[in-house]
Amino acid sequence: PTESTRDRSLRQRAATVIPGGMWGHQRAAAVPAGYPQFFRAGEGARVTDVDGNTYIDFMCSWGPIILGHRHPAVDAAARAQWDLGDCLDGPTEHAVILAELLVETIPHAEWALFQKNGTDATTACVTIARAGTGRRRILVAQGAYHGAVPWCSPSLVGVTAEDRAHIRTYAYNDAESLRAAAEEAGGDIAAIIVSALKHDLGKRQELPDPAFARAAREICDATGAALILDDVRAGFRLDLGGSWETVGVRPDLAAYSKAIANGHALAAVTGTERFRDAASRAFFTGSFWTGGAAMAAAVTTITELSRIDGPARIEAAGLRLRAGLAWQAERHGIEIVQSGPPAMPLVQFVGDTPEAATGEAFCREALARGVYMHHRHNMFLSCAHTDAEIDRALEATDGAFAAVAARTRRG
Ligand code: PMP
Repeated sequence: PTESTRDRSLRQRAATVIPGGMWGHQRAAAVPAGYPQFFRAGEGARVTDVDGNTYIDFMCSWGPIILGHRHPAVDAAARAQWDLGDCLDGPTEHAVILAELLVETIPHAEWALFQKNGTDATTACVTIARAGTGRRRILVAQGAYHGAVPWCSPSLVGVTAEDRAHIRTYAYNDAESLRAAAEEAGGDIAAIIVSALKHDLGKRQELPDPAFARAAREICDATGAALILDDVRAGFRLDLGGSWETVGVRPDLAAYSKAIANGHALAAVTGTERFRDAASRAFFTGSFWTGGAAMAAAVTTITELSRIDGPARIEAAGLRLRAGLAWQAERHGIEIVQSGPPAMPLVQFVGDTPEAATGEAFCREALARGVYMHHRHNMFLSCAHTDAEIDRALEATDGAFAAVAARTRRG
């Protein structure tokens, strides 16, 4: 890919007409050196870059692909609405059908609203919590990602202190720090927002500690604040009923996007009866938020995940990958740490630099052998990661470990 002509020429053209050559975390500067910036196609568990190189894909478009790229039934559902018109003067019937399906599937959900991106959904949850409580303060975990607008962006570029005036932080999985932040807020606490798990960039992942999850619920019950679950990244991959079903704690509001429609642009907020009135009073809209094709795709995605028990399949694929990597690393005398749920793995090398130089080298070696991984962001598996695809990927990672071991020996 480094030698590629199309990717390189597109990057050169982009550098002139797109600030920085590309925005956000999908820009080439944020993936290992030598990775392609531009893609042409996807199919099942594979993606093809603009130069025609095909890789087994362990990023799943950074989360959205859960049944596999170009899933036939999902895309047929979208296409059927597409053929009638996607962007009309208002919603299609799919809005109601999808809201009914979410209310049926997600235990806390008594209503649903739709948007396009995860940030739309997390921001709507914050607005609804403030509208419903009449309070301002929002408690956010240090280092957690909830989107790319001023109240939560990981960057302070273009952000004012006033944008963050009512945001305070706590440490994820630390009930004491959450209690202290709630105490400090006094009566002015509108919400606690939690990620499904701790999946901060470059950090070892942590599953939610049930005691921490219960403390968050208790604080919200005692103070009247809303418990917001940001399930944008993990939603539908771990549990169709919401990711905190795994720890037995239900939120008041939840934000979904990414995997909800297997790659079609859609986000959703679900909530309890208590916040229905606030959700109807607050003003939400977007020119494309009523598009019917993505909602039709979501109905088919969730129905299919439920029919085949998608989360169980994805977990099995993740366990197969994890076991293979663990065995290979040991055989090559390399110490690795694998963290997070099997469906959303992160592989780190013991003793690596803060920028994960060894992890990056490993990913580059895997890429050269036809496997697309990431060294700092959690990866994603899908229902298209069959045993055969995992085993083929493991052949590549075995070579990548060998190359990393040789590098280490050379010093
Ligand atoms: N919350 C979480 C946990 C996320 O992972 C993301 C996206 N990476 C967002 C919110 C924001 O979603 P989007 O990029 O679709 O706005």
